[in-house]
Amino acid sequence: MYKIAVAGTGYVGLVAGVCFAEAGHQVTCVDIDENKVNIMEKGISPIYEADLEQLMQKNYAAGRIDYTTDFKLAYKNADAIFIGVGTPEQPDGSANLSYIATVARQIAESIEKDCLIVVKSTVPVGTNDKVEQFIKDFLINDVRVEVASNPEFLAQGSAVHDTLHAARIIIGTDSKWAEDMLMKIYEPFNLPIVSVNRRSAEMIKYASNDFLALKISYMNDIANLCELVGADIQDVARGMSFDERIGSKFLNAGIGYGGSCFPKDTKALTYIAKQNGYELRTVNAAVDVNKDQKTLLYKKACRRLITFNNLKVAVLGLTFKPGTDDLREAPSLENVPLLLEQGADIYAYDPVGVDNFKKKYPEGNNGRGTITYVESPEEALKGANVCFIFTEWGEIKSVEPETYKELMRTPLVYDGRNIYKVEDMCRAGVEYYSIGRPNVKVSSEVISEAAATIK
Ligand code: NAD
Repeated sequence: MYKIAVAGTGYVGLVAGVCFAEAGHQVTCVDIDENKVNIMEKGISPIYEADLEQLMQKNYAAGRIDYTTDFKLAYKNADAIFIGVGTPEQPDGSANLSYIATVARQIAESIEKDCLIVVKSTVPVGTNDKVEQFIKDFLINDVRVEVASNPEFLAQGSAVHDTLHAARIIIGTDSKWAEDMLMKIYEPFNLPIVSVNRRSAEMIKYASNDFLALKISYMNDIANLCELVGADIQDVARGMSFDERIGSKFLNAGIGYGGSCFPKDTKALTYIAKQNGYELRTVNAAVDVNKDQKTLLYKKACRRLITFNNLKVAVLGLTFKPGTDDLREAPSLENVPLLLEQGADIYAYDPVGVDNFKKKYPEGNNGRGTITYVESPEEALKGANVCFIFTEWGEIKSVEPETYKELMRTPLVYDGRNIYKVEDMCRAGVEYYSIGRPNVKVSSEVISEAAATIK
């Protein structure tokens, strides 16, 4: 059992801290956000992740985890400190390392015994070297400090499961002492461990995320071509998936990737390449495709309807994917302002993302348009002229095709996640546009209400 401190209680830090406690370690989670610490102390998770709150409560009751803003107290006697603070994108695409630098300084000024510092945040290649030097430069006590890289691969929406059952743990260090301690910390997890040098570990993280982003953009590119040549991307993906060299995951076409990782990690890696005189053309292409993909359906709808002014628009799904309350880089954030600019009256539904969305777009008037937040997909659909589906939540997928026909004033649906079978929407009499599949058009009488605005 080790005494572990975790800096940052976001998706990575809090989940790591809770899972270390679950594995039997003594954990203190540190955050600068007092509000977060206060609610975590009450057993409430500041983020939405399956099983997280339950494990927080269980391990808090067992005395294995606590939360604080007092970093000095948390760091001074820790055996290991895991850094899980954000590394957001800067305007030039590079990673902002200021949060890492602050924690490094706080660690240097707090530790009173030999300590292993483990960087979990996603950081540019070479950052661990700099963090180690930086901490050594600012140390106030004569103690041994080493920095190891241990990038995180969890996916939001299944973060706890992904941590407890990770496909692999990457340990990046050249120090036997650091490697041994990390091996022991992870021993109770009983997972495959890959031990490499620090720079390779840092690169594994970017290379993995960017590969997944590429896979998504590739399928979206092919989907767009499918539409032009009369193929169906879902059949194409199914046919591809039997090839073990391709695999069956990440083959779903849609309105593009979002979240806090793929968008920033693709840009950060192309930035690192540029700094080293190299152009990462494949990743650049993935970024380009994704940018256009996010508003593809909006543009399609603009060609179908002249304007959204005074139209009732049902928006189903706000978060960047199901299972999370995270809105970072969500397609909804690209599309909702475009609809509002045109004077749309939006009725938005999301099972967990509404509170975060309200912070950006409060209920009521927003520029030329309005937003009303509702409790169910059906409420959003009632009397709507058009519907956009941005997130494939189970609650949205369970809406029957007939419900769109029954509840909407004009059953016109733009599905960014291909959640329905084209034939089912056709049978239900819904005009249906999705990604990389045949469009379903219905007679103009069915769309009579929108007739005045149809080109
Ligand atoms: P986040 O923004 O959700 O959380 C970061 C937390 O750090 C915040 O609560 C913030 O208040 C806190 N913080 C900032 N400065 C601090 C300090 N000096 N001391 C203590 N706490 C401090 O971030 P996240 O999504 O968990 O991502 C963290 C890192 O992990 C990033 O580098 C990210 O790229 C990487 N990562 C994220 C995911 C993911 O799915 N979110 C997956 C793998 C890796």
